[in-house]
Amino acid sequence: MLNADLHCHSVVSDGTLTPEALAARAAANGVKLWSLTDHDEVGGQHRAIAAAHENGLRYLTGTEISVTFAHETVHIVGLGFDPDDSAMAQGLHNTRGGRGQRAQEMSDGLAKAGIHGAYEGALKFVNNPELISRTHFARFLVESGVCKDTYEVFRKYLIEGKPGYVPHRWASLKDAVHWITAAQGIAVIAHPGRYKFTANEEYALFTEFQAHGGRAIEVITGSHTPAEYVDYANKAQEFGFAASRGSDFHSPDESHMDLGKLPLLSGNLTPVWELLSDRIQ
Ligand code: AMP
Ligand code: MN
Ligand code: MN
Ligand code: MN
Repeated sequence: MLNADLHCHSVVSDGTLTPEALAARAAANGVKLWSLTDHDEVGGQHRAIAAAHENGLRYLTGTEISVTFAHETVHIVGLGFDPDDSAMAQGLHNTRGGRGQRAQEMSDGLAKAGIHGAYEGALKFVNNPELISRTHFARFLVESGVCKDTYEVFRKYLIEGKPGYVPHRWASLKDAVHWITAAQGIAVIAHPGRYKFTANEEYALFTEFQAHGGRAIEVITGSHTPAEYVDYANKAQEFGFAASRGSDFHSPDESHMDLGKLPLLSGNLTPVWELLSDRIQ
């Protein structure tokens, strides 16, 4: 099975490496097929395509869209779409739109917990002004010594019920899948094991996603345990989904899983790139 890594982040969203540095790292780690999937943004795609080719990698365009489904945030990865599609660009632009206001409210919440200047502090880590995210706040709280690493920040400050958490309404599942498929791509449910869904809610997510035209789920991801690799491999087969593999790499200093280092997809699954053979560049 091919060493494909179809999920990671650059400075264009909340990663710390440039698209060029990621391509070089992926190639050094043995990746053959790569995708850069910045959150709600395709601004890095042309750089990533060029960097992939310079490093001898095959490439699928990518993004990871934030969606609100059943009061939870779900991430939908798009692969192999036209990076210049205008409807998708407009949809992603709208999805990014609320982040500035949300960040101000996160900062107000943290101030009430005694942490001041978090908005300005997080901004120092932001490269794309439309994409201030919780990750940037986490880096500020580590830099200022409040927590030892970003995982501790999320646990204590940035998840639901904690002082820096602000509920947010993202794109709809239907819109996200339609933007991707109308631009000739394939929609993939990112890290399905990470959501706090009951079995019924997860079933509803998979069924509605499929009804909208979604065709794959991530089986091997940095967010899954080995037991979840098996569980979601089985679910992919039950639902007739293709399977994807991606590290979700963000930073050499933060990520537990490096590019290209996860177990390979097992041979009884249909890899998502088989459905995208004419979209690989
Ligand atoms: P946002 O889109 O602003 O809500 O930020 C979401 C990002 O925060 C994700 O893409 C991850 O990079 C990061 N993240 C979310 N939950 C956690 C967690 N529990 N630990 C570490 N990073 C997380
Ligand atoms: Mn992220
Ligand atoms: Mn995600
Ligand atoms: Mn991700």
